[in-house]
This record gives sequence, C-alpha cells and structure tokens, in this order.
Amino acid sequence: MTSRPLLSLAIPVYNEEEVLPLLLAQLRELLDRPSFPSTEIVLVNDGSRDATPRLLDEAAARDPRLTVVHLSRNFGHQAALTAALDHVHADVAVVMDADLQDSPSIIPRFLEKHAEGYDVVYAIRASRQEGPLLRFCYRAYYRLLNMVSESRAPLDAGDFALLSRPVLDQLRGMREHNRYLRGLRHWAGFRQIGIEVDRDARAGGRSNYSALRLFKLAIDGIFSFSVVPLRAMAAFGAATVSAAVAYAGYTIYSKLVWGDPPQGFAALISAIVFLAGVQMLFLGVIGEYVGRIYEEVKGRPIYIADRVVRGDRWTESTFRSTASYTTVTGGGEPVRSGSST
Ligand code: UDP
Ligand code: MG
Repeated sequence: MTSRPLLSLAIPVYNEEEVLPLLLAQLRELLDRPSFPSTEIVLVNDGSRDATPRLLDEAAARDPRLTVVHLSRNFGHQAALTAALDHVHADVAVVMDADLQDSPSIIPRFLEKHAEGYDVVYAIRASRQEGPLLRFCYRAYYRLLNMVSESRAPLDAGDFALLSRPVLDQLRGMREHNRYLRGLRHWAGFRQIGIEVDRDARAGGRSNYSALRLFKLAIDGIFSFSVVPLRAMAAFGAATVSAAVAYAGYTIYSKLVWGDPPQGFAALISAIVFLAGVQMLFLGVIGEYVGRIYEEVKGRPIYIADRVVRGDRWTESTFRSTASYTTVTGGGEPVRSGSST
C-alpha cells in the first residue's frame, strides 16, 4: 500500500468496449514510466449496456491503481464526469474522454504547465478530425457562446483538462443539474492556461453524442451562462411596439390629411401571425428558464452510484470522505454503496 496518489485521472465511460482495452494499455504504458508521478485512475461506468462493466471490473481486479464507479443507469457525459471528479483523491486531476480522442500523451505537457504554477491547464483543439460541416458548427457555436455569455469561455476548449485542488473543490461544490463543466471550470477562475493539441478521431466505436444531444449541450451552454435570450426578448418586444406605434401614427395621419381609409387585409394577417409566432417562441424561451429552475429546485442527485470497486493500492486513511463509497481490497467482490449527490 502506498500513500495518496499524486495525480488522478477522471474518465467517464459509456459503451466503450471497443476502445477500453486500448485506453487502458496506453494509460498503463504512461503510468509505468519511472518518472511519472503515482497515479490513480477513476473510471465511471455511466450505465453501459455492452461489455464495458465487465471489462472495467476485470481491469480493476488486475490493476490496483484503478477505481471503478458504476452508476445506477446512464446519466450522461457531464454527470459521469461529475461522478469521476467526486471520487478522485489526488490534489491534481486530469479529466479526459475514454475514446482516446484526448490523447494520454498530452498529460505530461499538462503536468509541466501545472508545475509552472497554473491551477487549470486545458486543451485547445488546434485541429479536429471531424467532417468540415461539424467543424464549422463547433467553431460557430463557441463564438456564439462567447458573444452571449457573461463569462468569456476560452474558444475551442473542451473538457480535457488538468485541475488542481482549489478548482476541484469549487467544482465539487457546484451541484447544478444543467452542467456544462468547461463553463463552470472557466467560471471558477484561478490561474488558467490553454495549450494547443490536436484532437484525434475516435479510436473505435462511435460517438455517444447524437446530433440532438450535441444540440442540447449547446443549448445548455448558452442558457446556463447567460440571460441574453431573455434580454433579446425584451429588446424585440420594445422594437415591435415602436414599429406598431409608428404605423398607427402613419395610418391616422394619412386618413386625416389625405382622406385614405386604412387598407391591407394581407398585411394585417401577416402581422398577426408573425407576432403570434414571436410570442410563442419567446414563451418557449421563458419556459426554458422555468424548466431549469424546476430541475434545480427538485434537488435530486446529479447521479446515483450503484457500487464502487477500488484496488488496494491506496490506504483508506489517506482518503478524504467526499462521497459515500466502499473500499474493496484487491478489486475483489464489489460492495454496494449509497447514492451520492
Ligand atoms: N460518455 C458518457 N456518458 C454518455 C455519453 C458519453 O460517459 O452518456 C463518455 C464517453 O464514453 C466518452 C466521453 O463521455 O468517454 C465523450 O463521449 P463521446 O466520445 O461520445 O463524445 P464526443 O467526443 O463525440 O463529443
Ligand atoms: Mg469522443
């Protein structure tokens, strides 16, 4: 048994049976280097339906540096990331994806920057391997987000990042449900720096983000960090009222001065339909915020941990109790643990 790990890797995993062996092999290769700090790997199984849970348990039984947190169902990437961050023990954590799009070979560069005194080191995507349309969408989105949001999130920064203890503590304290971790991370402040990395294509399997889920994440980013949509509504309302008043003035003037009776059934209908549409659209925007308030006031946990399997590399006394988890020595029979918020 050793004392506390110096570095923790936090990795959400969902249906990654194809890439998991590759990921673990690459991580082991990195961690086995003599110069590399002692490291724990926290893998969160986000309710996978393929062979992932079994592969993870087997890996934990073989490698005492692994901790596996099984969630009770699929809670989504951001919730799984949160679960991973709740279960790390080192003062420095690196958040990364399981599909090798975030290359483990970047981690030493993160550590170098951290040694220079930075609390957050995040990867800026210098290049992407996706198609041109998707690339365009990503770029356009990050720019839009920066335009509307009060907090200037760094452009093209993803979740792949190193976080030090002060930031980790802050992130753990933020229990909002509509989570957008890269935004929260930026919001937390401290000394942050981005380094350019190439974002690889998935090593195998396929992205768990459907177009719809990506759209939802994008909407989350905007609505969680700004009230600009609400302000836009007010501004548009004011502009419409001004236009209506001006038009009414013009109609009265033309009737009185030129004797023209008001005309234009088509104009009337289009105005009514247009405004009804705008009102419904804006009710939708208000609804979006109300729905978010509703989600938050319910105060449900962000995820529910079913069981936690931990290797015996680290002594229990060195762990701070952050969540309710159970230690399993030697990666043996896992024990059920309670839920974490
Ligand atoms: N993931 C997860 N829960 C989900 C979807 C994804 O834990 O519901 C994990 C997935 O295994 C991967 C990471 O989150 O490690 C990023 O997912 P993905 O590669 O599908 O997203 P993309 O890279 O396409 O944005
Ligand atoms: Mg991916």
